[in-house]
Formats: sequence, C-alpha cells, structure tokens
Amino acid sequence: RIVTRFAPSPTGFLHIGGARTALFNWLYARGRGGAFLLRIEDTDRARSTPEATAAILDGLTWLGLDWDGEATSQAEGAARHAEVARAMLAAGTAYKCFATPEQIEAARETARAEGKTTLFDSPWRDAPADTHPDAPFVIRLKAPRDGETVIEDAVQGRVAFRNDHLDDMVLLRADGTPTYMLAVVVDDHDMGVTHVIRGDDHLNNAARQTLVYRAMGWDVPVFAHIPLIHGPDGKKLSKRHGALGIDEYRRMGYPPAALRNYLARLGWSHGDAEFFTDTDALAWFDLPGINRAPARLDFRKLDHLSGQHLATAPDAAVLHDLDAWLAATGAAPLTDARRDGLARALPSLRERARTLPELIEKAHFVLTDRPIVPDEKAAKALDDVSRSILRELTPRLHNVNWQREDLEAAVKAVAEDHGLGLGKLAQPLRAALAGRSVTPSVFDMMLVIGRDETLARIADAAA
Ligand code: GLU
Repeated sequence: RIVTRFAPSPTGFLHIGGARTALFNWLYARGRGGAFLLRIEDTDRARSTPEATAAILDGLTWLGLDWDGEATSQAEGAARHAEVARAMLAAGTAYKCFATPEQIEAARETARAEGKTTLFDSPWRDAPADTHPDAPFVIRLKAPRDGETVIEDAVQGRVAFRNDHLDDMVLLRADGTPTYMLAVVVDDHDMGVTHVIRGDDHLNNAARQTLVYRAMGWDVPVFAHIPLIHGPDGKKLSKRHGALGIDEYRRMGYPPAALRNYLARLGWSHGDAEFFTDTDALAWFDLPGINRAPARLDFRKLDHLSGQHLATAPDAAVLHDLDAWLAATGAAPLTDARRDGLARALPSLRERARTLPELIEKAHFVLTDRPIVPDEKAAKALDDVSRSILRELTPRLHNVNWQREDLEAAVKAVAEDHGLGLGKLAQPLRAALAGRSVTPSVFDMMLVIGRDETLARIADAAA
C-alpha cells in the first residue's frame, strides 16, 4: 500500500510550491488507493506558530487536499526520536561525542585551512564504549567513511554522494532534543511512508537520511525530489513575481479545481493534456511525468484553465465555489431566491468568466433587487430618448412569447422603428435590467428574470 505525506514547517503561509508538493503527494496516493498523511514539522519551536499551522491546514482544506487521520506534530514525537538515537547507540551505529562547541569550531578551522572536505572528525568516534566522562554529549551517527551513498531518485535519477563528504551528523543534541534529520527519518518510518515526494532542496538531506535508514535496518522509501517553481522569467520565485501564498489565489477567486489542474501541470505533464479534471489527474499522475527542469509560473495559463473549469464544471460545483468565495470575502450568504437566480443564470454567465468574482460581476442582475440603481455609465445610457423607446417596448413585451426568438424579434422591431441598430437599444436595456453597461446578453437576462421582473425594471428605468 502506497503511503505519502506532506510535511510542512509551520513558519508561514502555505506557499504555492508547498501546495504543489502536497498535491503531488495527494494525487500519487489517492490515485493508487493509498494514504496521504500530514505531518507538521514544528520542531523549530522559535519559528513555528499555531497561526501558521492553522493557515496550512486551512489552505489544504480549501484546495481540496484531504489527508488521512489527524495531522501529527513532529515535536510531540521527541521521546520516540530520542529512543531511536539510543537504540543506534546501543547497536554501535551511533556514538556519544563529548567535543565542546569550541573544540568543534577549532577543528573546523584547522580542517578548512587544510582544505579537507569533512569538516569535523570527532575524536570520540572510535573511543571505547566505556569512556564516559561526566560531561554533556551529543549522539552522532557513525557514518561510513568510504564509498558512496546512492539515491535512486524517481525524478533526478541516480545521484551519488561521496561518503567522505558527509559528516557524522548529530542525531540527538546535548539537551536531549532530536535533530530535524533524525526526526524526519523516524517519523517517515513510523508512519509507514513508502514515497517521499518533496522539493529538490531536500536532495542532499536524502543522502544523510538514507544513512539513518540503513543504520536502523529500515526500508528506504522511494524518493522523488521535484524541481522548484520559478517565476515567469525563469528566475527563482520571489514576491516580485506576484502571488506566492495559496490564500492569495483563493482571494483572487480561482476555483480550487482549476488551481489543482494548474498546479498539477506545474512541473508534471501527461502528453499534451492541459485542461483536465481530478478524475483524469488521479488516473494519470505518475512520477516519470515529473519534469527535471524547474517549472515556470504562468498566470495567463492559470486564467485560461480557470475559465475552462468555470465553463464546464457541474452547476452544483460552481455554485458551491461561489458560496465559498462570497463567504471568504465576508459577504452575506445568498438568499434562496438569489441562489435560484444565480443557478438559472449560470449558463449565460459561464462564458468568458475566468474567476469567481468575474462571474459574480456578470451575475449582478440576479444578485440585486429593484430598484436597480444604475452606475454612472449605465445612467448615461438612460437619456430621454432611450427612456421613451423603452416605454414603447413595454406593450410588445407584454404580449410576446417569453422565448429568445420572440424577444429578439420584439426588440428588433422597436429598434427598426427608430432606425436604430439592435446594439443601440441594448445599452438602455442593460442599464434598465442590470444597472450596468457590461452584462450578459439582454435576452439571457430577460429569460432568467422573467417577464414580470423585466417589465418592472424597464418601467422603473423609463419613468
Ligand atoms: N519540513 C520540510 C519543509 O517544509 C519538508 C521536509 C520533507 O518533506 O522531508 O521544507
């Protein structure tokens, strides 16, 4: 059974890169009937905050990346991590090092001066086990000195690290707290993680972590180190490129499904598929499809995919996203009547809307009640002449069949009487029906709000 995990450090918001890492792990596990776990790596007490943890959970939830079981806290596993360090000590794969920080610094100075690659060779590595000065000590891994540690990375391929370049890393500090490197391995092992998919800034760690797995005689998981995300200009991603936090994308009103599609394509591909659903992504996602080159953010592509999702998603999904978006902006929940209106208007709104707020803007005509207050531009379209033409239109609309062709014919007839094109009459109609100058087609609006409401709005505007 496949087990993956997302292991964020709660030191800030959920970054777009972290969200993509989480998505890859989620897709890999969920597409294979496996488990996707969440571990909060909060061992750095000074930098970890509960607010950051909450923001990460909230971001993942919004993005639809559900995890199995409870999120675990790495810090809470400290006793278990220490127990493993002591087991390694007992097995002789680790040792107590009594070197003081000053001694280590001095040794490093010397090593640097001599151009050595290993910066600290502990004199305690081969000290007899019964040498126990009554002094503070750390527990260090007794790492192999010769040969190589090889990672068969599912993305990077075979990566070899010379063992004489790897220090005997500290596993347990003098105060008894575990190091990050030890904690990650113990947690991944205990959680049964089979695949570690994470940013390639952790590739070097994978070598050191492999040594701990081997020392414990544990199975080494499959590693897949994914290239980082770069800005549209190919440079390392930074604030000047635009939105970095998943929350910003949420505020901009991208539907979560569209963002999942977009993030999946950031660094992974399946043939030339660009637009796809979760079902597709779950069926297709694999490790060989992950690119070795860094992916570049592409906001136009996001807009485009988002538009495609809004145009094709089931009504219920779009309405759900709209509700969630409105709630997130602090707007009052939709009344049933408006929600019905919105549902009926959806087919005419979907076209060319790229985000939820764009959709809401187009839906203004169903989300507002009489009297419709025209904005400045719309008010200009309601001059004396236009208002008198609207009055002429009224009796025709009274009698017409409430269907697109008949409505079109009625409006056209009045426009022709005045030697006007349909477009000229459409402007005051938009102003009357929606109070805006940019709206869905006037016929779509009429069909959605119905005869009575249409006539009432025209009467208001023509008065
Ligand atoms: N906590 C690490 C990070 O946020 C991830 C470590 C891992 O995935 O092994 O970068």
